[in-house]
Amino acid sequence: MSVLGIPILDNLYPATMDMWPIEAKEFNRSWPFYENLKQGRFTTTKCKDCGNVSYPPRVICPQCYSENLEFTDLPKKGKVVVFSEEVKGVPLGFESPLIHAVVDLGVDPVKRLLTRIINCPAGTLKRGDEVQLAVFDIPAIPIEKGKAGTIMAERVFFAFEPVKK
Ligand SMILES: [Zn+2]
Repeated sequence: MSVLGIPILDNLYPATMDMWPIEAKEFNRSWPFYENLKQGRFTTTKCKDCGNVSYPPRVICPQCYSENLEFTDLPKKGKVVVFSEEVKGVPLGFESPLIHAVVDLGVDPVKRLLTRIINCPAGTLKRGDEVQLAVFDIPAIPIEKGKAGTIMAERVFFAFEPVKK
């Protein structure tokens, strides 16, 4: 996803939406979330000890503080509960319209999440609309790995997009 018309931001991605800019295995214990995203899976962590499911993915269970977690799939479709749409004056680096929505995934316990909505022309989104997971590549980040030199960490991120009717 590129930034149009602003040379200084060429090939940069506005990372404020990204929970963990460094996705590499060596630096981020939530890296399976991104590996799963690359395969089109939308996942979060489930505690193997108490069964608690929390989103976003954790490294420690917020219920019982166990580190014994596994990744579990979440629905990839949901319905728009409420949304905001910025058309003018969007922050530098973002394309207009900049839409954020609370999406109802229809399952407990991760019933609702706040996400960005992309591939959606201004003025067309409505409450109750069905949206689906959209995974896209974002610019890689160079990571220094000592003697191994610098590697480029492949990166993806996600948003939701309207389901075409
Ligand atoms: Zn637990």
